[in-house]
Amino acid sequence: MLDELYKEIILDHYKSPRNRGKASKVDFHAHGVNPLCGDDIELTLTVDRDIIEEVKFDGHGCSISQASASILTETLVGLTLDQAHTKIEHVKSLFKGNDIVTEDLGDIEALQGVRKFPVRIKCATLAWNALQLSLQNSATGQSTAYSDE
Ligand code: ZN
Repeated sequence: MLDELYKEIILDHYKSPRNRGKASKVDFHAHGVNPLCGDDIELTLTVDRDIIEEVKFDGHGCSISQASASILTETLVGLTLDQAHTKIEHVKSLFKGNDIVTEDLGDIEALQGVRKFPVRIKCATLAWNALQLSLQNSATGQSTAYSDE
């Protein structure tokens, strides 16, 4: 029953993606590809004084990868960069099989259904991994796309 609910949430994000497009001012740019499935996601962020003001995504791929990116944009807007780092770690840990019961996950919860399908985990984590790499790169001045191979 719960699986059905999860499926509906994912399909809803896939069919009506939130925050699709490009941020008005690009302070961070992340690009992630998952060649195994053909997922390709670009994220752009506007950050003002450490607060994420806008998160947008663009790209193509399967419903899981696109829904996950859509959920990411809704989850991270309004957070500080530090909070975003922590949130990304939590989400990645969730996909590794750790249950996080201490915080309200919102629609992220719907994505944990993919843990039963290891090959789809890469689809679900793509946007999160790509953004994490971009945030880390910005600290070191590097710029590389995230590729999940
Ligand atoms: Zn995929």
